[in-house]
Amino acid sequence: MDNVMRSADESSERLIAWGEARNIETCFERGQKLKPCPIGAGGACCRICHVGPCRLIGQNAEEEAMGVCGASLPTVAARNFLRMAAAGTAAHSDHARDMAFTLLAVANGEVRDFRITDVKKLNRVAGILEVEFEGRPVNDVARDVATKLIEDFGRQRGALYFTRRAPAKTRERWERWGIMPRGIDREIAESLHRTNMGVDQDPDSLLMSALKVSLADGWGGSMISTDVTDILFGTPQPKKAEASFGIFKEDEVNLVVHGHEPSLAEML
Ligand code: SF4
Repeated sequence: MDNVMRSADESSERLIAWGEARNIETCFERGQKLKPCPIGAGGACCRICHVGPCRLIGQNAEEEAMGVCGASLPTVAARNFLRMAAAGTAAHSDHARDMAFTLLAVANGEVRDFRITDVKKLNRVAGILEVEFEGRPVNDVARDVATKLIEDFGRQRGALYFTRRAPAKTRERWERWGIMPRGIDREIAESLHRTNMGVDQDPDSLLMSALKVSLADGWGGSMISTDVTDILFGTPQPKKAEASFGIFKEDEVNLVVHGHEPSLAEML
């Protein structure tokens, strides 16, 4: 493999080189070897319904190519993009759902491995959600906070609670463009519905939906997950610690837990 920089982290570079010297294939090597799909490189493929796959390629594909249902290349590209955004929102937000249910279980005394570490953060979030916290037992506040956060997944109308943290001008713009996210699951479901065969054919409208489902992620799933993680495990502070591959010990068994599920790491 050519001597190209694959990571900004020097120790990662050394690890990649170590693997390559031992014929351990990495994503970097596969990325160099794989040729882009010729359909995707010059057009798009639609596999949304059983009539396809439809390949929208060729000269003037952007203006002339059409799937069997009449979808144009910009429509298919926008549909594919919206489905990617919906999948990303689903992944982040399903993690957030688990975190909110973990907070509820902690508040109800159903789990022994976790506790509420950052009461100040809990109260701050309670304030945003209009949950009374002054003089109340911490677990009661946490139960109400978790219940309200769980509501954000199934809400059918209105707006996600945390969108009220956004500046008024931004909220007004989201309302005007019709992209204020209602419920997280609702925006994901609507994205899948909208991209189905024979539904939304307008690339601009599909891309606005991509913004809406992404806002459901940013101001829903991601924000809920971050706040609940802070409440349960403590808001991160700068800390001096040993990190990276230098922490491995040659005379010890080194276990590496990969992923970003903080509740698992915290239990270990
Ligand atoms: S939705 Fe349209 S473009 Fe896509 S596979 Fe079906 S017929 Fe083809």
